[in-house]
Amino acid sequence: MPHRFLIIGAGFSGAVLANRLIKYFDCTIDIWDERNHIAGNCHTERDEKTNIMVHQYGPHIFNTDKKEIWDYVNSFGEFKNYIHQVKAVSGGKIYSLPVNLFTINQFFNKTFSPAEAKLFLETLADKTITDPQNFEEQALSFIGKGLYRAFFYGYTKKQWGCEPTELPASILKRIPVRFNYDDNYHTNTYTGIPKDGYTAIIGKMIEHERITVSLNKKFSPSDDVKNYTHIFYTGPLDAFFNYEYGRLGYRTVTFEKQYANGDYQGLAQMNYCDAEVPYTRIVEPKFFTPWEKYDKSIFIKEYSKETTPQDIPYYPKRLQNDKIILQQYRTRAASLQSVSFLGRLATYRYMDMHHVIGEAYNFAELFYHQFKNQQPLPVFPNTDTL
Ligand code: UDP
Repeated sequence: MPHRFLIIGAGFSGAVLANRLIKYFDCTIDIWDERNHIAGNCHTERDEKTNIMVHQYGPHIFNTDKKEIWDYVNSFGEFKNYIHQVKAVSGGKIYSLPVNLFTINQFFNKTFSPAEAKLFLETLADKTITDPQNFEEQALSFIGKGLYRAFFYGYTKKQWGCEPTELPASILKRIPVRFNYDDNYHTNTYTGIPKDGYTAIIGKMIEHERITVSLNKKFSPSDDVKNYTHIFYTGPLDAFFNYEYGRLGYRTVTFEKQYANGDYQGLAQMNYCDAEVPYTRIVEPKFFTPWEKYDKSIFIKEYSKETTPQDIPYYPKRLQNDKIILQQYRTRAASLQSVSFLGRLATYRYMDMHHVIGEAYNFAELFYHQFKNQQPLPVFPNTDTL
C-alpha cells in the first residue's frame, strides 16, 4: 500500500517537502492551500494592465551562500542576475542603504576614508552596552544614536508596532554597516530573481502525477485526516491548536498599488525611515526585472499593522509573551503523533526563502530515514525557540 501524505500549505516549505518526499517514498501527496494560488507569500503574478511581474506579498529576492540550494532552485526554472539596491528617505534627504561609507559621509557631511569612518563610529557607539539584549541596544552599541534615530528607530517602530527595546537584537543583525561604498543590499554568494516568477518555480516543484494540489481548501483542526500516514503542517502554529493558548503576535502588511508613467522612483525599493510617514517603504516592481522593458510603472506602498484574525500573518514578532505561548504550543505539538510542523508560520520564525528551502529539504531526508528505521519521527526542524 502506498503511503498517503497530507501537506498543509503550498508555499516553499510545502512544495520542497512534496518534491523530496515523492522521491523517497512510494506515496501519494495531497497539498491543501486556503488561498486561490500556490506559492504562499512568494506568489508572483503579472499585472493585467502593464504585464509587469508583481511580488503580490512584498519583494522577494533570492539569496543564498549555499551552492546546493542555488542549484536546487535553479533546477526548476531560470534565475536572472539581480542586485538589490535600496535607498532611504530620512529627514527630507535620500541616503544610501544599508548604512555604508556613502551614508556615513552623507549623514555627517564628511569625506572619511574607511579607516576614518570606522574610528569615528567607534567614538559614537555606546560602549557601555557589551552584551546587547534588544534591537535598540544592538544598534546603539555599534552605530550610536544619530544613525540609529535616522535610519532604524522610526522604520522599526512602524514595521513592528512596538518600541525597538522590546524586539530581539537578531532582527538588526540582518543589516550590516559597511565601511566601503558597496550598496548591494544582500551579501550572499548567489542572488537572483526567477525569470518567470516564484509561482512558476514552486509550480514545477510540485508538478507530479502523484501530487494533488487543492486550492481554496482551508485546513481545520477538526478535519478528519486519519487516512493519511502523516501530516506536514506549514500554517500558523496557533491556528493548528485553535488558538487554545492565545494568538502568537504577527505584523501584517497592507499594500497600496498605483500606476505611473515612466519610472516612479528610479529603483526597486525606497525605505521611509521617518515615523511621521505612514508607510514603511515603496516598492517599484519593474526594477526587479531589469531584463524586461516597460514604459509604464507600478509602485506599491507598504503599510505595516498588527495582525487581526482576518489578516495574513507576515512577520513573527516574538516578544516575550509570544515566546511563552510558543513554548506551550510546541509542547502540545511534540505530544501529537503523525504531525510535523515546518516553515515560517509553523515554527514562528523570521526566515528567508533559502532558509525555508534548506530546512524543508533536510527535514524530508531526516523524516525518510527515521521512518525507514522505525525511529521517532521529527516534529519540528528546529530546537532553537528563543
Ligand atoms: N530596518 C530599519 N530601517 C530600514 C530597513 C530595515 O530599521 O531602512 C530594520 C527593521 O526593523 C526591519 C529590519 O531592519 O524589520 C530588517 O529589514 P529587512 O529590510 O531585512 O526586512 P524585510 O525585507 O524582511 O522586511
